[in-house]
Amino acid sequence: MAGFLPDSFIQRVLDETDVVSLIDSYIPLQKKGKDHWSLCPFCEDGNNPSFSVSSQKQFYYCFRCRASGNAIGFLMNYQSKDFLDAVETLAANAGLELPKKINSESFEKYKKIIDANVAAKEYFVSQISKNPKGKKINDYILNRGISAEVIEEFEIGFAPEGWTNLHDHFMNSNKKEFINDEVGLFKKSEKNKVYDGFRNRIIFPIKSKKGHVIGFGGRVIDDEMPKYLNSPENEVFKKGKELYGLHEVLKNNRSLKKVIVVEGYTDVLSLFSKNIKYAVATLGIATSKNHLEKLFSHVDEVIFCFDGDEAGMKAAESAMKICLPIIRDGKILKFLFLPNNEDPSSLLEKEGKEEFEKRIESSRVLSDYLFELVLNKYDDSIENKAAASKEFMSLISSMPGSNYKNILIQEFSKKVDIKLEEEVKVIPKRKQIKVSEEKEFDYELDKVTKSIVKTLIESPELSHLDELNFLMRSEEDFLSKFINFLRTKDKPTFPMILHAFEEQKTFLINLTEDKNLISPDAAKEYIIQAINFLKRNDKVKFQDKLRSKYLDGSMTEKEKIEFKKTLLENFDNLDESEIQILKEI
Ligand SMILES: [Zn+2]
Repeated sequence: MAGFLPDSFIQRVLDETDVVSLIDSYIPLQKKGKDHWSLCPFCEDGNNPSFSVSSQKQFYYCFRCRASGNAIGFLMNYQSKDFLDAVETLAANAGLELPKKINSESFEKYKKIIDANVAAKEYFVSQISKNPKGKKINDYILNRGISAEVIEEFEIGFAPEGWTNLHDHFMNSNKKEFINDEVGLFKKSEKNKVYDGFRNRIIFPIKSKKGHVIGFGGRVIDDEMPKYLNSPENEVFKKGKELYGLHEVLKNNRSLKKVIVVEGYTDVLSLFSKNIKYAVATLGIATSKNHLEKLFSHVDEVIFCFDGDEAGMKAAESAMKICLPIIRDGKILKFLFLPNNEDPSSLLEKEGKEEFEKRIESSRVLSDYLFELVLNKYDDSIENKAAASKEFMSLISSMPGSNYKNILIQEFSKKVDIKLEEEVKVIPKRKQIKVSEEKEFDYELDKVTKSIVKTLIESPELSHLDELNFLMRSEEDFLSKFINFLRTKDKPTFPMILHAFEEQKTFLINLTEDKNLISPDAAKEYIIQAINFLKRNDKVKFQDKLRSKYLDGSMTEKEKIEFKKTLLENFDNLDESEIQILKEI
């Protein structure tokens, strides 16, 4: 994926991004010492913040689960974005335009799928006015309270009856290259005959946030099964990530405050037609964590709309369970239950916009819904109160620590008259995989060498000092590789270093956490002195080794000469026993 964008552009995006303010916009950070801290969003660190963000290194790191990375990595992990999406978000924040000429095989593939979808969309849209049945369908949609403007804005289309309409259209209009398996518009019979995937259906083009047509939803007109059909998933189209209508919602609202999530495509269209232009729908699947994260990256308030029947209640409960781990201070989740046998379009027809928006306003906040859900199952007996508390605590155990969570616990305590406290959880081993998978760096460096490595991380330009050659004993060892790496890179950043020395990651991070800073002005002088110290130290060690050899009588003639030489060089500092040895040799 990284091949999509030139490295220089990615570096530019990182240069323009401040990782502290980025992360702070999702998780409130507190400055302690030179770093910013918070509870870790990637593991359960109880009440003890393990998650640090360094402004200087433009890097985050969790001391508990060892999650780490730069701004791009944070968005990828925290918002489940893919690489390109993360870079795009940061580029947009920084006001940078994506480079136009992007060449790579995967990009070509991406473009081909989009182009094919656009061509198919144009065909489907044309059929809703040209095809006699398409016209009927248009009237049918209009009669259901969806406006002509909304049909146009969402580019609703029609796939005619018959097996090869789109296929033939592509064949006859020089678009043969779009007839292939990757795009997902066609299917193959057992006899290898290619036929249209969407037939005799109302077509809802599904667009990415940016408005690219990434797939289609097709709804049957007669009693055919299945009622809804979506394009198959591919590189471009992932059902669990996309939301129908999000592109239009963002396009229509400069300052978006809230989003309502409804069940079907037509619900979105009905709401838009009544000028409630902040509705989206999942693509025929249950709400996922990805969906909510995507929405929370645009708004602070999300309202889920469900039918008032049993199926709706169940869907609400499972949506809530999925969403709890993502709820943070400042984010509001609400639940709107419609009266039985009503959907948004039928209600809008009956009540109109204002009444419907009143319903949205007065929808239930998560806490009310959650309390009621649990308490309704139990009566007031002491036994039942205990059981209710247990169920409540287990439900919210998936929530990250936050003020909101604390308040939920307090409020529920009041309701059951039992003082509840969050249990301190034992961290399951699974969450720490990274620690055990990462091979620990077992190359023991002495304190002085470590401080040289640390100084070089902070002032990598000093890696060119000839003095450092002393540390580069064999090509294979860490120090040689490390110094060579710094010498060959232009302005290596800490994340780049960590990326190159994956095995030594923990060692390097621990090293830079050491508070003994050497000021950049003194760094050069410090390295030279430190190397001289190591050289001297080496000599002393060598001398000690020779002395013990001399004393136990295992010294060769050649070593004797060497020994004598070092003793003489160091004559002023010799003690009596050494002078004695010198005389004897
Ligand atoms: Zn962590």
